[in-house]
Amino acid sequence: MDVRRRVTEIRRRIATVGDPERVRIVAVTKGFGANAVDAALRAGVTDIGESYAQELVAKTPEVTRDGAHWHFIGRLQTNKVRQIADVVEVWQSVDRAALGDEIAKRAPGARVMLQVNVSGEPQKGGCAPHEAPQLVRRLRQSGLEVLGLMTVGVAGAPDAARPGFKLLNRLADDLGVVERSMGMSDDFEVAVAEGSTMVRIGRALFGERPRPEGDVPAN
Ligand SMILES: *Cc1c(COP(=O)(O)O)cnc(C)c1O
Repeated sequence: MDVRRRVTEIRRRIATVGDPERVRIVAVTKGFGANAVDAALRAGVTDIGESYAQELVAKTPEVTRDGAHWHFIGRLQTNKVRQIADVVEVWQSVDRAALGDEIAKRAPGARVMLQVNVSGEPQKGGCAPHEAPQLVRRLRQSGLEVLGLMTVGVAGAPDAARPGFKLLNRLADDLGVVERSMGMSDDFEVAVAEGSTMVRIGRALFGERPRPEGDVPAN
């Protein structure tokens, strides 16, 4: 698994559609062991994304000292917040006020992003676009630092995700927030072309996930 070479290749592809200096790579290690985290860190990628609280709890004792910055990117039940509050640096998948309140209680002043469902697919996490302004206000009122917005592009051909990415970018402009976390292995170039500042990459860095897709709930 030559993760370093794959990082170079992803940066090269980012550069064909945008400014690689503006785009951070978040290495998504869900479904892979702690060795994937180590490989990302050795390749110079220190932002690490995790989708499941249990996996994060299992992985971090082995790697926290190595300089990983953990982003939580998956569906999150409020009762799991406490277990991971010491480790998570960026809560990317906040999509409702109750979750924000719990994060504010367990990790006062934490950095969060609001997840927006730009495709309207019912199985996806995220608030509706029209709810975003009010939720951003609410998160700020509870003392959280709102870095920006996050979304998961519609599945299928990469170009199908473009209208949703455009919408997220425009929403972030309107709300005056900097970060736009959008783009995954299959659609990151479209996302960067539409203004992404953070791409969340799993398979393009680590290969196919050992676990069957069926086990992975949609975000
Ligand atoms: C799994 C996951 C990713 C990474 O997906 P890949 O297709 O492996 O790049 C990104 N974002 C979220 C929210 C995910 O759950």
